[in-house]
Amino acid sequence: MADAFDLVIIGSGPGGYVAAIRAGQLGLKTAIVERENLGGICLNWGCIPTKALLKTGELYEGLEHLADFGLAVEGRSYDFNRVIKRSRDVAKQLSSGVAFLMKKYKATVIDGVARMEPGSAAPRVVVEEKGGSTRVIEAKSVILATGARARVIPAIGLEPDGERVWTYREAMTPKTRPASLVVIGSGAIGIEFASFYRALGSEVTVVEALPRILPLEDAEIGEAARKAYEARGIAFRAGAKVVGLKKTRTGVTVDLETDGKAERLEAEGAIVAVGIEANVENIGVEALGLKLDRGHVVVDDCGATNVKGLYAIGDVAGPPWLAHKAMHEGVRCVEHIAGLPVEHVTAPIPACTYAAPQIASVGLTEAQARDKGIEVKVGRFPFRVNGKAIAAGETTGLVKTVFDASTGALIGAHMVGHEVTEMIQGFALAMTLEATEAELFATVFPHPTMSEAMHEASLAAFGRTLHL
Ligand code: NAD
Repeated sequence: MADAFDLVIIGSGPGGYVAAIRAGQLGLKTAIVERENLGGICLNWGCIPTKALLKTGELYEGLEHLADFGLAVEGRSYDFNRVIKRSRDVAKQLSSGVAFLMKKYKATVIDGVARMEPGSAAPRVVVEEKGGSTRVIEAKSVILATGARARVIPAIGLEPDGERVWTYREAMTPKTRPASLVVIGSGAIGIEFASFYRALGSEVTVVEALPRILPLEDAEIGEAARKAYEARGIAFRAGAKVVGLKKTRTGVTVDLETDGKAERLEAEGAIVAVGIEANVENIGVEALGLKLDRGHVVVDDCGATNVKGLYAIGDVAGPPWLAHKAMHEGVRCVEHIAGLPVEHVTAPIPACTYAAPQIASVGLTEAQARDKGIEVKVGRFPFRVNGKAIAAGETTGLVKTVFDASTGALIGAHMVGHEVTEMIQGFALAMTLEATEAELFATVFPHPTMSEAMHEASLAAFGRTLHL
């Protein structure tokens, strides 16, 4: 006989587990199916363990500059296995935190691989459990939260071999640190791993097919970031498409094409970070007639798909592929399922890259705003004249604001610098509340903080900056 639930969630990443929590709060009888570890890619193989690695890199690299602060220590070294182990321990701690939360909110966790079949109120979910048995679940609603995985391109050798060619998964748990690395792709994944391995001493070259690195970022911010990474010794090849990757006896060769010219890079290893693909295979998409667009499930703004009773959230439902977008969609989707009124407000989704220095942005880039025909006022403020940044020795980077000149609304904000990922939320909140320059001018920013550069960049857009 089938088990009966109000809601079954397939996948326990940030989208799925947060949806389960909200469902518990709203009194829905909920099951959550996970084939691997609770917490999904984010907690186990993405956001969280990489932040642990990057922290190690930042501390280690920081030792180079101790003399600037009047400090001295003898030599420096690290135990690579312990660096990796700490990152794994952090991931484990977070994953068991999710197990606790599932208990607290009374979600039934099912260890196994789920697929869907046509059902009555919603698709029927069939789970091949870890123990070998098959469990059939009937629910009023099903949320698909199966996430995504690294895109691989086997035809040109861009696929992991577990040894010298890695995706983010292998790059997080290597046995040894390669002396040299080619990173293919300059999105968040490529840049974060380039930053970590460079910090520990690897020679790193990042290859990007598009004309500039970090192509999604505001051009000026991407350029400032590139200069800062180059100053740390990371090399870049932009406008260079990888057309072939081959393994050699001692490492890899990576063939590039730049403006029709061929170039070959050699390194001990390579990281493939050329985007991600939604996990839509073997879950019953065809049998249900589930509508996809470019590999992603098509949803409305509450996550509803074209199949009765079936919803999708997070990476499987398309870009931006960010954990916080998945969590936000999870809550919204469950509230809709529970019959709560859902406001049709589109809050801007910030994006963060945790390299050294960090990058954070929300809303439109200057170019995007201009392409939309918006007349803009743009402000900039560099950290090199910010008191707290000077005191902390963190003067790299800047804050940039983009305002709609006709209404004064803040429509974009972009930053590169130390811990800017902790500051972008100020601008995200401002944009969600539809703030104009008047509210930003009137907001009191504490002194001394690096966040004062946010105030100054807002003032600067209107010719009123104070400290420059
Ligand atoms: P991405 O799509 O952001 O970047 C991939 C880059 O690879 C692109 O710039 C693309 O032009 C380039 N590329 C593709 N084929 C190439 C080739 N043959 N040669 C050279 N360059 C090539 O993808 P990603 O960095 O793999 O990240 C995947 C997703 O995960 C992104 O959406 C990202 O936002 C998200 N993510 C976010 C964070 C974060 O928020 N900190 C961290 C990791 C991942």
